Parts: sequence; structure tokens; C-alpha cells
Amino acid sequence: MFSKILIANRGEIALRVLRACRELGIKTVAVHSTADADAMHVRLADEAVCIGPAASRDSYLNVAAILSAATITGAEAIHPGYGFLSENADFAETVEAHGLTFIGPTAEHIRMMGDKITAKTTMMALGVPLVPGSDGELANIEEARIVAEKVGYPVLIKAAAGGGGRGMKVAQTAADLEEAWSVARTEARAAFGNDAVYLEKYMDKPRHIELQILGDNYGNVVHFGERDCSLQRRHQKLLEEAGSPALTPEERDTIGRTAIDALSKMGYRNAGTLEFLYQDGQFCFIEMNTRLQVEHPVTEMVCDVDLVREQIRIAAGEKLGYTQADVTFEGHAIECRINAEDPETFAPCPGTVAVYHAPGGLGVRIDSALYTGYRVPPYYDSMIAKVIVHAPTRAQAIARMQRALDEFVVEGIKTVIPLHRRILADPEFQKGDYTIHWLENFTARPH
Ligand code: ADP
Repeated sequence: MFSKILIANRGEIALRVLRACRELGIKTVAVHSTADADAMHVRLADEAVCIGPAASRDSYLNVAAILSAATITGAEAIHPGYGFLSENADFAETVEAHGLTFIGPTAEHIRMMGDKITAKTTMMALGVPLVPGSDGELANIEEARIVAEKVGYPVLIKAAAGGGGRGMKVAQTAADLEEAWSVARTEARAAFGNDAVYLEKYMDKPRHIELQILGDNYGNVVHFGERDCSLQRRHQKLLEEAGSPALTPEERDTIGRTAIDALSKMGYRNAGTLEFLYQDGQFCFIEMNTRLQVEHPVTEMVCDVDLVREQIRIAAGEKLGYTQADVTFEGHAIECRINAEDPETFAPCPGTVAVYHAPGGLGVRIDSALYTGYRVPPYYDSMIAKVIVHAPTRAQAIARMQRALDEFVVEGIKTVIPLHRRILADPEFQKGDYTIHWLENFTARPH
């Protein structure tokens, strides 16, 4: 086992990793930008190193500074969290080339899944069902037109290098195709420096259902069930549940077996998530994330597993030590992402937290790096807290989340807590009757 780990991240996820390390008796090294000198992850770590100015590219994405920090502190491994360098294959490779361990999959698998076209062709060859669409990259608009006619409108033009919902444009009819094609490519070139695009049928009422996987270095792969992340705004998740209100245990078993089979054949190791669109009883693979996800706590609550601890154990060369039959699902969990945003306009709202009081009680978990007097910097992601609840049934989990949000005090900045309250009180949400398009319609409704 490692004796010291550097955490190449900030905010709640840096704390999340730090907590797992501490319970394993591992010393932690925090890295931080000048804007984060007073951040909670810096305060709680055993050592902290400033790696650059506020802008992410100069600090949290500064590979040379992060490796220097690891070297001078004698860290043996690096946990990347999510975002920043977590899905950067070159970073994983560089870390290993410096004799350190990257806590995650191999650089080869990160690279393979980072290109969504390669990800889809790989998964198809391994027997995973896909969203109907083009066979790989589209050469030109004529080819896009032919494929679109074949799969039927509406269609989606997507960037091969896409992420965070960017580089994705819908064409409702043939008349929109040319514009969708050029806008998606321009966006992809600007955001990712790569304008390769592919085409998918735009599904009209799918749910976003993803499967949590862990694999070790010895060919053992297990899944920890699904998360339903259909509640999205601009393709960004806002509220997640485990399990999905739409899935039967048999459907979970079936997709779980398909996923395990595919990842075993790939020789995949560490944590990963297969993302699917689910409609009319069919699962269609869209992408794989080769890292820990923001919404991993809902899985941890229903499966009683510490996924970060597992990531660290796997990276240290330990065996999983359990099989699929040992993974059980207990009750229901919901996560609300609390963003520092105006709940009506979604404009980011950084600033000083005048008063902070976190909820507590049975089945309530808060993953956050906030404290009273903390200044939320304007430079990074607007997510400032995750409220996670666990209860025996979905109805009880909803009631518990409502109670927890009523207790939650964050003064001085605006947050999306009022929006979560409205969602939780909505009869359609309470019935579990929603698709990926539901939240956009909901936020547009007068209230
Ligand atoms: P990113 O990596 O940018 O998050 P994804 O491929 O994971 O992109 O898609 C993000 C979200 O966009 C999905 O969860 C879903 O809501 C929507 N989406 C993606 N592909 C389709 C599709 N073919 N039809 C309808 N919605 C889609």
C-alpha cells in the first residue's frame, strides 16, 4: 500500500479522496492555486504545495508543477479526482514515466475511450449495443445526409473529442443538417482542437442510465449497478439516483453482464462508468468515463462500498477480493448537486459564504469544501456541494432530501437549492416519470 498520495484536484472531490486516504492510513499532499490558499483541502491535507496562479491551465492543469510537487514531497501515487487531468492519457503516461502510480486506468484505455468514435467501435466489437448512427467519423456533409436519412430525423452531430455537453448539435429536419454540422465542428475545434464529428439518432424520450464498474489488475471485474442521471440542463447532470426508478433488477443484471463481459475482454482496470441512453427497454451505449464520477456517492450508499478506497487498493496492486455475487443493493439514494448559480437564470454566483450550516441526521451525507467565510472563487466549476441521502425506499429518500435541503443554510451567495426543492415536490418527479428532456421543460414552466 502507498504511504503518501498527492491529490491533483480541489474542492469537494479533493476532500473526498483525502478522507479515503486518511482511513487507509495514507498521508496526503494537497496542491492548490494561489486562489485556493484558504481552501478546505489545503487545510486538511498533511502537506500542501502551491502549484501556480488562479487560472486552471497554470495550476490544476500544470503537469510539470504537479509532478514537481509529487517529487519534492515524496508522494508515490497521484489521484486525479474528476475533471482537470483525470481523463488526460498523456498525464497518466507522464506520471507513470516518473515512477509514480496514476490512480486510474491505463493511459491506453483512457485514450481509447477519450475518443468517442473509438469508444463506440470498441464497444460494438465487444457486443455492447449502440445508439444507431454513423460508422465512425463523418467524412463530409454528404455522408452526414446519407446516414441521417437512413437512421431518420431528428439526428445529433457530436464531437469525437466531446465532453461536458459541448460540440453537440441537433438537426430536427434535413433543412437543419448543414447548420448543425458546421456549428458542431466549429465548437469542437474551439473547445477540443479536433473537429472530427459523428452522427447519432437523436432519441426523443431516453433516460440517461450509467453503470459503475471496478476492475483489478487480475481480470476481476464487477459492477455496482446503475445510476439514473436523466435530470440534466444543457446536458449537465443536476440530480442523480441509484437505482433508476425505471429499471427492473433483471434489466440491471442483463446490462451488468454485458458490461462486465466487455470490460473483462478489454482488460480494464480501476473505476469506470459506461453511459447509456435507455428507451423502450433498450440500452444504447453513448460513452465511457475512465474516472471517478461526480455522482459516485449514490452508488456508494446503496452498495455500501467506498469507491475511492477501492480505486486506491486496485492501484496499489491489491485484488478486488469479492465477486459480483457479493455486491448487494440496499434502499435508494439521491444526490442533489448544489451549484453557486442563480436558480432562475443559472448565472454563476461566486462570492463570500456569509453563513454555512450543513444538514445532518440519519441517512444524510454532505460532500462539500464550504465553510462560513469561504470565498467561492470565480475561476472554477460552480458546484459547491453535493447533498446525498439514503433511505429504504425512493419515497422516503425524497422526503429525506426535502428535509435535508430545508435545513441547509448557505447565505451570501445564490444556489440552486430552491430549484431542487421544486423538483422534489413535483408529482411527475415523485412518480419517477421523467426523461433527459424533462428538466429543460420543467425550468421553462411558469411557477
Ligand atoms: P458529454 O461527454 O459531452 O457529456 P454525452 O455523449 O455523454 O456527452 O452526452 C451527454 C448528454 O447528451 C446525454 O446524457 C444525453 O442527455 C444527451 N445525448 C447524448 N447523445 C444523445 C442522443 N443520441 N439522443 C438524445 N440525447 C443525447
